[in-house]
Amino acid sequence: MITQKNEKKQATILEIVRMSTEDGPGIRTTVFFKGCTLNCAWCHNPESISIKKQLQWVGSRCIGCKTCLEVCKQNALAFTETGLLIDRSQCTGCGDCAAECPGTALELMGKIWSLDDLVEEVIKDRAYFKTSDGGITISGGEPTMQAGFAGAFLKSLRQKGLHTALDTCGQCNRDALDQTLPYAAMVLFDMKLIDPDAHKRFTGHDNKRILDNLLYVANYIRSHVYPSALWIRTPIIPNATATPENINGIGQFIAKNLSDVVDRWELCAFNNLCRDKYLRLDQKWVFHESELLTKEEMDVLTETAKSSGVDRKIVFPTGSTRMESSETEEKQEIQQKVGGSNVDFCFCRPKLT
Ligand code: SF4
Ligand code: SF4
Repeated sequence: MITQKNEKKQATILEIVRMSTEDGPGIRTTVFFKGCTLNCAWCHNPESISIKKQLQWVGSRCIGCKTCLEVCKQNALAFTETGLLIDRSQCTGCGDCAAECPGTALELMGKIWSLDDLVEEVIKDRAYFKTSDGGITISGGEPTMQAGFAGAFLKSLRQKGLHTALDTCGQCNRDALDQTLPYAAMVLFDMKLIDPDAHKRFTGHDNKRILDNLLYVANYIRSHVYPSALWIRTPIIPNATATPENINGIGQFIAKNLSDVVDRWELCAFNNLCRDKYLRLDQKWVFHESELLTKEEMDVLTETAKSSGVDRKIVFPTGSTRMESSETEEKQEIQQKVGGSNVDFCFCRPKLT
Protein backbone atom coordinates (compact mmCIF):
# COMPACT_ATOMS: atom_id res chain seq x y z
CA MET A 1 0.00 0.00 0.00
CA ILE A 2 1.27 3.47 -0.88
CA THR A 3 1.67 5.73 2.13
CA GLN A 4 1.67 9.50 1.89
CA LYS A 5 4.28 11.30 3.96
CA ASN A 6 3.52 14.73 5.42
CA GLU A 7 0.04 14.65 3.94
CA LYS A 8 -1.47 18.12 4.16
CA LYS A 9 -5.17 18.77 4.24
CA GLN A 10 -5.09 22.34 2.90
CA ALA A 11 -3.27 24.28 0.20
CA THR A 12 -3.23 27.76 -1.30
CA ILE A 13 -4.55 27.50 -4.83
CA LEU A 14 -4.44 30.35 -7.32
CA GLU A 15 -6.86 29.12 -9.94
CA ILE A 16 -8.60 26.13 -11.47
CA VAL A 17 -8.66 26.29 -15.26
CA ARG A 18 -11.02 23.99 -17.09
CA MET A 19 -10.91 22.71 -20.69
CA SER A 20 -7.17 23.26 -21.03
CA THR A 21 -5.41 21.81 -24.06
CA GLU A 22 -2.02 23.21 -23.03
CA ASP A 23 -1.04 21.14 -20.04
CA GLY A 24 -0.75 17.54 -21.14
CA PRO A 25 -2.70 15.12 -23.34
CA GLY A 26 -6.40 15.49 -24.05
CA ILE A 27 -8.64 18.07 -22.45
CA ARG A 28 -7.55 18.81 -18.91
CA THR A 29 -8.43 20.65 -15.76
CA THR A 30 -5.35 22.46 -14.50
CA VAL A 31 -4.98 23.37 -10.84
CA PHE A 32 -2.55 26.25 -10.39
CA PHE A 33 -0.85 26.17 -6.99
CA LYS A 34 0.23 29.49 -5.51
CA GLY A 35 3.90 29.98 -4.65
CA CYS A 36 6.98 29.36 -6.77
CA THR A 37 10.60 28.50 -6.08
CA LEU A 38 11.82 30.42 -9.14
CA ASN A 39 11.28 34.05 -10.08
CA CYS A 40 11.53 34.03 -13.88
CA ALA A 41 11.88 37.46 -15.43
CA TRP A 42 9.34 36.56 -18.13
CA CYS A 43 6.83 34.86 -15.80
CA HIS A 44 3.37 34.82 -17.39
CA ASN A 45 1.67 34.26 -14.02
CA PRO A 46 3.29 36.82 -11.67
CA GLU A 47 0.39 36.36 -9.26
CA SER A 48 1.53 32.77 -8.74
CA ILE A 49 5.04 33.57 -7.44
CA SER A 50 4.15 34.54 -3.88
CA ILE A 51 2.42 31.89 -1.80
CA LYS A 52 0.60 34.65 0.07
CA LYS A 53 -2.84 35.85 -0.94
CA GLN A 54 -2.57 39.05 -2.99
CA LEU A 55 -5.05 41.77 -3.76
CA GLN A 56 -5.42 43.17 -7.25
CA TRP A 57 -7.44 46.13 -8.52
CA VAL A 58 -9.00 46.18 -11.98
CA GLY A 59 -9.49 49.89 -12.62
CA SER A 60 -11.90 49.47 -15.53
CA ARG A 61 -14.44 47.85 -13.21
CA CYS A 62 -14.19 50.40 -10.40
CA ILE A 63 -17.23 52.67 -9.94
CA GLY A 64 -15.44 54.92 -7.43
CA CYS A 65 -17.81 54.25 -4.52
CA LYS A 66 -14.95 54.03 -1.99
CA THR A 67 -16.66 51.24 -0.04
CA CYS A 68 -13.31 49.48 0.08
CA LEU A 69 -11.72 52.37 2.02
CA GLU A 70 -14.44 52.14 4.67
CA VAL A 71 -14.20 48.36 4.93
CA CYS A 72 -10.42 48.04 5.29
CA LYS A 73 -9.45 47.88 8.96
CA GLN A 74 -5.75 48.14 8.10
CA ASN A 75 -6.07 51.48 6.27
CA ALA A 76 -4.21 49.82 3.44
CA LEU A 77 -6.15 51.56 0.66
CA ALA A 78 -6.15 55.11 -0.68
CA PHE A 79 -7.32 56.81 -3.85
CA THR A 80 -4.79 58.84 -5.84
CA GLU A 81 -4.96 60.59 -9.20
CA THR A 82 -3.93 57.36 -10.88
CA GLY A 83 -6.45 55.17 -9.09
CA LEU A 84 -6.56 52.93 -6.05
CA LEU A 85 -3.30 52.59 -4.19
CA ILE A 86 -2.76 49.37 -2.20
CA ASP A 87 -0.24 49.62 0.60
CA ARG A 88 1.00 46.04 0.36
CA SER A 89 3.03 46.35 3.56
CA GLN A 90 -0.24 46.87 5.47
CA CYS A 91 -2.59 44.61 3.51
CA THR A 92 -3.13 41.31 5.31
CA GLY A 93 -5.01 39.70 2.43
CA CYS A 94 -8.15 39.34 4.53
CA GLY A 95 -10.33 39.86 1.44
CA ASP A 96 -12.98 42.02 3.17
CA CYS A 97 -12.68 44.78 0.58
CA ALA A 98 -13.01 42.35 -2.32
CA ALA A 99 -16.09 40.78 -0.73
CA GLU A 100 -17.79 44.18 -0.43
CA CYS A 101 -16.67 45.73 -3.73
CA PRO A 102 -19.85 46.27 -5.80
CA GLY A 103 -17.92 46.57 -9.06
CA THR A 104 -15.88 43.37 -8.55
CA ALA A 105 -12.87 45.60 -9.16
CA LEU A 106 -10.99 44.10 -6.23
CA GLU A 107 -9.96 40.48 -6.40
CA LEU A 108 -8.10 38.42 -3.87
CA MET A 109 -5.78 35.98 -5.60
CA GLY A 110 -5.20 32.75 -3.74
CA LYS A 111 -7.75 30.65 -1.95
CA ILE A 112 -7.31 27.98 0.71
CA TRP A 113 -8.77 24.69 -0.47
CA SER A 114 -9.28 21.56 1.55
CA LEU A 115 -8.21 18.30 -0.04
CA ASP A 116 -11.72 16.85 -0.16
CA ASP A 117 -13.24 20.01 -1.65
CA LEU A 118 -10.58 20.30 -4.35
CA VAL A 119 -10.94 16.66 -5.35
CA GLU A 120 -14.72 17.05 -5.49
CA GLU A 121 -14.36 20.20 -7.60
CA VAL A 122 -12.11 18.72 -10.27
CA ILE A 123 -13.86 15.39 -10.65
CA LYS A 124 -16.91 17.31 -11.88
CA ASP A 125 -15.04 17.38 -15.21
CA ARG A 126 -14.83 13.62 -15.48
CA ALA A 127 -16.99 13.51 -18.61
CA TYR A 128 -14.54 15.38 -20.79
CA PHE A 129 -11.52 13.60 -19.32
CA LYS A 130 -13.09 10.37 -20.51
CA THR A 131 -14.00 11.49 -24.03
CA SER A 132 -10.65 13.21 -24.70
CA ASP A 133 -8.19 10.95 -22.82
CA GLY A 134 -7.49 13.97 -20.66
CA GLY A 135 -7.18 14.43 -16.91
CA ILE A 136 -5.94 16.74 -14.21
CA THR A 137 -2.64 18.65 -14.22
CA ILE A 138 -1.15 20.32 -11.18
CA SER A 139 0.84 23.40 -12.12
CA GLY A 140 1.71 26.77 -10.64
CA GLY A 141 3.64 28.47 -9.38
CA GLU A 142 5.42 25.33 -8.33
CA PRO A 143 3.11 22.62 -6.99
CA THR A 144 5.93 20.79 -5.17
CA MET A 145 6.21 23.82 -2.84
CA GLN A 146 3.10 22.33 -1.22
CA ALA A 147 4.21 18.76 -1.83
CA GLY A 148 2.32 17.08 1.00
CA PHE A 149 -1.00 18.35 -0.30
CA ALA A 150 -0.02 17.94 -3.97
CA GLY A 151 0.91 14.29 -3.43
CA ALA A 152 -2.27 13.57 -1.48
CA PHE A 153 -4.35 15.27 -4.18
CA LEU A 154 -2.75 13.28 -7.00
CA LYS A 155 -3.06 10.09 -4.98
CA SER A 156 -6.77 10.63 -4.44
CA LEU A 157 -7.32 11.27 -8.15
CA ARG A 158 -5.29 8.23 -9.06
CA GLN A 159 -7.40 6.09 -6.75
CA LYS A 160 -10.43 7.34 -8.69
CA GLY A 161 -8.86 6.15 -11.93
CA LEU A 162 -8.13 9.62 -13.32
CA HIS A 163 -5.10 10.61 -15.39
CA THR A 164 -2.78 12.95 -13.51
CA ALA A 165 0.13 15.16 -14.55
CA LEU A 166 2.73 17.01 -12.49
CA ASP A 167 3.97 20.23 -14.12
CA THR A 168 7.19 21.28 -12.39
CA CYS A 169 10.03 23.76 -12.82
CA GLY A 170 12.28 21.22 -11.10
CA GLN A 171 13.59 23.62 -8.43
CA CYS A 172 12.57 21.55 -5.41
CA ASN A 173 14.02 19.11 -2.96
CA ARG A 174 14.11 15.37 -3.55
CA ASP A 175 11.60 14.72 -0.82
CA ALA A 176 9.01 16.85 -2.66
CA LEU A 177 9.51 14.76 -5.79
CA ASP A 178 9.22 11.53 -3.80
CA GLN A 179 5.90 12.72 -2.41
CA THR A 180 4.39 13.52 -5.80
CA LEU A 181 5.95 11.29 -8.47
CA PRO A 182 4.28 8.01 -7.40
CA TYR A 183 0.86 9.49 -8.14
CA ALA A 184 1.57 11.34 -11.40
CA ALA A 185 0.84 9.49 -14.63
CA MET A 186 3.19 11.87 -16.39
CA VAL A 187 5.58 14.72 -15.71
CA LEU A 188 5.85 18.03 -17.56
CA PHE A 189 9.32 19.38 -16.75
CA ASP A 190 10.62 22.84 -17.67
CA MET A 191 14.06 23.28 -19.18
CA LYS A 192 14.48 26.99 -19.65
CA LEU A 193 18.17 27.74 -20.03
CA ILE A 194 21.12 25.36 -20.31
CA ASP A 195 23.73 27.91 -19.24
CA PRO A 196 23.82 28.04 -15.40
CA ASP A 197 24.80 31.71 -15.23
CA ALA A 198 22.05 32.78 -17.59
CA HIS A 199 19.62 30.58 -15.65
CA LYS A 200 20.56 32.35 -12.45
CA ARG A 201 20.31 35.77 -14.07
CA PHE A 202 16.82 35.20 -15.45
CA THR A 203 15.24 32.99 -12.76
CA GLY A 204 17.13 33.66 -9.53
CA HIS A 205 18.76 30.19 -9.36
CA ASP A 206 21.29 28.31 -11.44
CA ASN A 207 20.08 25.07 -13.01
CA LYS A 208 22.18 22.52 -11.12
CA ARG A 209 19.43 21.25 -8.86
CA ILE A 210 16.94 21.34 -11.73
CA LEU A 211 19.09 19.22 -14.02
CA ASP A 212 19.89 16.80 -11.17
CA ASN A 213 16.18 16.48 -10.45
CA LEU A 214 15.42 15.95 -14.13
CA LEU A 215 17.86 13.03 -14.20
CA TYR A 216 16.25 11.72 -11.01
CA VAL A 217 12.78 11.91 -12.60
CA ALA A 218 14.08 10.10 -15.69
CA ASN A 219 15.55 7.31 -13.55
CA TYR A 220 12.35 7.13 -11.56
CA ILE A 221 10.36 6.67 -14.77
CA ARG A 222 12.79 3.98 -15.95
CA SER A 223 12.39 2.01 -12.75
CA HIS A 224 8.68 2.49 -11.99
CA VAL A 225 5.43 1.88 -13.81
CA TYR A 226 4.16 5.29 -12.72
CA PRO A 227 4.83 7.96 -14.02
CA SER A 228 5.06 6.62 -17.54
CA ALA A 229 5.69 9.74 -19.64
CA LEU A 230 7.91 12.81 -19.61
CA TRP A 231 7.42 16.00 -21.58
CA ILE A 232 10.05 18.73 -21.59
CA ARG A 233 8.84 22.31 -22.01
CA THR A 234 11.01 25.26 -22.98
CA PRO A 235 9.57 28.79 -22.94
CA ILE A 236 10.86 30.63 -25.99
CA ILE A 237 11.55 34.13 -24.71
CA PRO A 238 13.09 36.87 -26.88
CA ASN A 239 16.54 37.98 -25.70
CA ALA A 240 16.57 35.27 -23.04
CA THR A 241 15.93 31.64 -23.99
CA ALA A 242 15.25 32.17 -27.71
CA THR A 243 18.76 31.59 -29.01
CA PRO A 244 20.01 28.74 -31.18
CA GLU A 245 22.82 28.10 -28.65
CA ASN A 246 20.36 27.59 -25.82
CA ILE A 247 17.96 25.41 -27.82
CA ASN A 248 20.81 23.36 -29.21
CA GLY A 249 22.31 22.96 -25.71
CA ILE A 250 19.01 21.78 -24.23
CA GLY A 251 18.53 19.42 -27.17
CA GLN A 252 21.99 17.93 -26.66
CA PHE A 253 21.25 17.39 -22.96
CA ILE A 254 18.00 15.58 -23.81
CA ALA A 255 19.68 13.51 -26.54
CA LYS A 256 22.53 12.48 -24.25
CA ASN A 257 20.59 11.75 -21.06
CA LEU A 258 16.90 11.36 -21.71
CA SER A 259 16.30 10.02 -25.21
CA ASP A 260 14.72 6.81 -23.90
CA VAL A 261 12.18 8.58 -21.65
CA VAL A 262 11.20 11.90 -23.23
CA ASP A 263 8.04 11.64 -25.31
CA ARG A 264 7.75 15.25 -26.32
CA TRP A 265 9.72 18.51 -26.26
CA GLU A 266 7.54 21.58 -26.49
CA LEU A 267 8.87 24.97 -27.53
CA CYS A 268 6.34 27.37 -26.01
CA ALA A 269 6.34 30.73 -27.80
CA PHE A 270 6.46 33.88 -25.66
CA ASN A 271 3.25 35.83 -25.31
CA ASN A 272 2.63 39.19 -23.72
CA LEU A 273 -0.95 38.68 -22.58
CA CYS A 274 0.18 39.04 -18.97
CA ARG A 275 1.14 42.73 -19.24
CA ASP A 276 -1.96 43.86 -17.33
CA LYS A 277 -1.34 41.33 -14.57
CA TYR A 278 1.92 43.09 -13.70
CA LEU A 279 0.22 46.47 -13.70
CA ARG A 280 -2.52 45.20 -11.38
CA LEU A 281 0.12 43.95 -8.94
CA ASP A 282 2.00 47.27 -9.13
CA GLN A 283 4.97 45.45 -10.63
CA LYS A 284 7.20 46.34 -13.55
CA TRP A 285 7.72 43.71 -16.24
CA VAL A 286 11.00 43.84 -18.15
CA PHE A 287 9.33 42.20 -21.16
CA HIS A 288 6.55 44.81 -21.27
CA GLU A 289 7.70 46.12 -24.65
CA SER A 290 8.75 42.77 -26.09
CA GLU A 291 6.94 41.61 -29.17
CA LEU A 292 5.92 38.10 -30.03
CA LEU A 293 8.40 36.12 -32.08
CA THR A 294 7.75 35.89 -35.80
CA LYS A 295 6.79 32.59 -37.37
CA GLU A 296 10.17 32.59 -39.13
CA GLU A 297 12.03 32.98 -35.82
CA MET A 298 10.05 30.10 -34.29
CA ASP A 299 10.66 27.99 -37.40
CA VAL A 300 14.44 28.53 -37.09
CA LEU A 301 14.44 27.54 -33.40
CA THR A 302 12.22 24.54 -34.10
CA GLU A 303 14.62 23.37 -36.78
CA THR A 304 17.53 23.96 -34.38
CA ALA A 305 15.78 21.76 -31.82
CA LYS A 306 15.09 19.06 -34.38
CA SER A 307 18.74 19.08 -35.49
CA SER A 308 20.20 18.99 -31.96
CA GLY A 309 20.42 15.22 -31.71
CA VAL A 310 16.93 14.43 -30.38
CA ASP A 311 14.37 12.40 -32.29
CA ARG A 312 12.91 15.04 -34.62
CA LYS A 313 9.41 13.70 -34.06
CA ILE A 314 9.34 14.74 -30.38
CA VAL A 315 9.75 18.49 -31.09
CA PHE A 316 6.57 20.59 -31.12
CA PRO A 317 6.28 24.38 -31.28
CA THR A 318 3.25 25.79 -29.43
CA GLY A 319 1.76 29.24 -28.90
CA SER A 320 1.14 32.32 -31.02
CA THR A 321 3.56 34.16 -33.26
CA ARG A 322 3.65 37.75 -34.44
CA MET A 323 1.86 38.56 -37.63
CA GLU A 324 3.91 40.32 -40.30
CA SER A 325 2.40 43.20 -42.29
CA SER A 326 0.93 41.02 -45.06
CA GLU A 327 -0.63 38.76 -42.45
CA THR A 328 -1.92 41.81 -40.58
CA GLU A 329 -3.66 43.05 -43.73
CA GLU A 330 -5.13 39.61 -44.21
CA LYS A 331 -6.27 39.58 -40.59
CA GLN A 332 -7.89 43.00 -40.96
CA GLU A 333 -9.71 41.76 -44.05
CA ILE A 334 -10.97 38.71 -42.12
CA GLN A 335 -12.01 40.87 -39.20
CA GLN A 336 -13.98 43.18 -41.49
CA LYS A 337 -15.77 40.18 -42.93
CA VAL A 338 -16.53 38.50 -39.60
CA GLY A 339 -17.01 41.72 -37.66
CA GLY A 340 -14.51 40.68 -34.98
CA SER A 341 -11.55 42.64 -33.71
CA ASN A 342 -9.30 40.27 -31.92
CA VAL A 343 -8.76 37.27 -34.13
CA ASP A 344 -5.33 35.74 -33.63
CA PHE A 345 -3.55 32.97 -35.41
CA CYS A 346 -1.87 30.20 -33.50
CA PHE A 347 0.03 27.04 -33.99
CA CYS A 348 -2.39 24.20 -33.56
CA ARG A 349 -1.26 21.61 -31.07
CA PRO A 350 -0.79 18.41 -33.06
CA LYS A 351 -2.77 15.49 -31.74
CA LEU A 352 -0.69 13.04 -29.74
CA THR A 353 -0.23 9.72 -31.42
S1 SF4 B 1 -15.28 49.22 -3.47
FE1 SF4 B 1 -14.68 48.50 -5.49
S2 SF4 B 1 -15.87 49.78 -6.91
FE2 SF4 B 1 -15.90 50.82 -4.92
S3 SF4 B 1 -14.15 52.22 -4.99
FE3 SF4 B 1 -13.40 50.34 -4.04
S4 SF4 B 1 -12.58 49.20 -5.78
FE4 SF4 B 1 -13.86 50.77 -6.66
S1 SF4 C 1 -7.54 42.60 1.68
FE1 SF4 C 1 -8.10 43.25 3.77
S2 SF4 C 1 -6.28 44.30 4.52
FE2 SF4 C 1 -6.03 44.14 2.31
S3 SF4 C 1 -6.84 46.06 1.53
FE3 SF4 C 1 -8.55 44.60 1.49
S4 SF4 C 1 -9.61 44.89 3.45
FE4 SF4 C 1 -7.59 45.87 3.62
